Amino acid sequence: TGPELFAPERVNSRGWDLTHRPTFAELDAARSTFADHRWAAAPQGVDDRPQSELANPADPSDIVGTIAWATPADVQDALGAAKPWDAPVADRAAALNAVADAYEANAPELFAILHREAGKTLPDAIGEVREAVDFLRYYAVHGSDAGGDAGIWTCISPWNFPLAIFTGQIAAALAKGNAVIAKPAEQTPLIAARAVALMHGAGVPASAIQLLPGDGGTGAQLVSSGALAGVAFTGSTEVARKIRASLAKTGRPGTPLVAETGGLNAMIVDSTALPEHAVRDILAASFQSAGQRCSALRCLYVQEDIAPKLITMLKGAMDTLLMGNPWRRETDVGPVIDSDAQSEITTYIEKARAEGRLLHQLDAPSEGTFVPPTLLRVKGISEMEREIFGPVLHVATFKAEETDKVVAAVNATGYGLTFGLHTRIDDRVQEIVDAVAVGNVYVNRNQIGAIVGSQPFGGEGLSGTGPKAGGPNYLPRFRPAPAPLAGV
Ligand code: GLU
Repeated sequence: TGPELFAPERVNSRGWDLTHRPTFAELDAARSTFADHRWAAAPQGVDDRPQSELANPADPSDIVGTIAWATPADVQDALGAAKPWDAPVADRAAALNAVADAYEANAPELFAILHREAGKTLPDAIGEVREAVDFLRYYAVHGSDAGGDAGIWTCISPWNFPLAIFTGQIAAALAKGNAVIAKPAEQTPLIAARAVALMHGAGVPASAIQLLPGDGGTGAQLVSSGALAGVAFTGSTEVARKIRASLAKTGRPGTPLVAETGGLNAMIVDSTALPEHAVRDILAASFQSAGQRCSALRCLYVQEDIAPKLITMLKGAMDTLLMGNPWRRETDVGPVIDSDAQSEITTYIEKARAEGRLLHQLDAPSEGTFVPPTLLRVKGISEMEREIFGPVLHVATFKAEETDKVVAAVNATGYGLTFGLHTRIDDRVQEIVDAVAVGNVYVNRNQIGAIVGSQPFGGEGLSGTGPKAGGPNYLPRFRPAPAPLAGV
């Protein structure tokens, strides 16, 4: 019997109804305690090293905390100190559930870090904490005894979900009895450090979860160490390839790599779609989280005969978006993560503008690393060479008889993460869903925000190795590497 998708003893975390004034007021008061707080991140046991400061992407004068970066010696120390967590599965599950409780109890503080370090709006920060909690409780239910041969996993996580994905990878490895060395994105070590402190406080041993704030060099040193039972990675396809190559050289080529990478995600809106509904979903899928989700919509295909109307409505809807400091309740779109991201996306937009392809753009605040939501015209997805990780939506039109060609072009990108479809023709839904090669298809809704336990999330092709996170097949992959076959 396989693991159960809907375990009866687990429910997803509850939310906060921000439209209920007393609820918001209480939450706002709780998080305001952390408006000027400074957090710190350091490798375990390091407290005497020069530290660098990290600023708020929305407000460069707001210092969020300090970081002592890991040295090569810290990496060796962490590998030496890591010990698989050999407590019985029920005890490990209880500790993971206690971590989930601690996240919920400390949610206002976690929101404050997510606003100030990662530029997350309040709805995004709430979604992020809830997803992290759900991962903990879901994997706690599905954990197992790993036997005597659990090992050390390295979890390398991204800045765009610096709590949810960070926690999901770690919780999965721990639920299988492994030790984890976590290397968070260099842009977001503070939320990671707070999370690890909560894990230790809830009973996860310091030898089972260690944090190494570092850059790509720290990750590369871990991966090439030859000491790992597996690697969980979320980030670019290019880095995933390097990790695979590096693991192959360690002499343990069978070491599992669970990688979730990029996407070039499309949505088709045909002329039977309800325009108001489609526009609402396009807006969320493209511009929520400032477009900084792997799942975000990048290329919208609108059927030609409704395109003028739909695009006019979309521009109007974009004009209602408020960009600004994510701490503010009314902000819809926060900054992009840092100035490198800002200049890369801006250069891309300016090139399109010079080519006469700019359809619409908002104004951005002058302080902070903001990129305004932008609409660009393209002939089709094949013109897009790479994923632009920000609030930039490409729009193409198609004729009814070209639907198969559009799906073929989407498949030809080689990526396969999310796909959206707005139509009211049931047969078309089935045809397209069968033909499109992606991990997650969404029909008549937006294509972001997969839910742990009910919408496992992950891609195909260049978008990842699978198995999908938050689904029943994820944990079995977090087993120790098979021993090399003697004499083969
Ligand atoms: N799970 C997220 C979603 O469904 C995306 C994760 C990512 O961007 O890596 O929107």
